[in-house]
Amino acid sequence: MRPIGVSAAVVCWHCSQPLDPGAGDPTARYLYRGDQPRTVVVEDWLHCACGAYQNVRRLNEISVEALGNS
Ligand SMILES: [Zn+2]
Repeated sequence: MRPIGVSAAVVCWHCSQPLDPGAGDPTARYLYRGDQPRTVVVEDWLHCACGAYQNVRRLNEISVEALGNS
């Protein structure tokens, strides 16, 4: 999967502190079918230092690559 478009900055809903979705593993991740073929919405839940949880949704494109054709 690869993200589509530019992801907006993420701030905590509770304390407005910026959160980095790329830092560490998300607390939880959910996948939803996208509204276009071969797309998926990835929803990550990030844990802020203040104790709150913030969800981030990003649209991803699914790419299928052949394996074992070397
Ligand atoms: Zn916070």
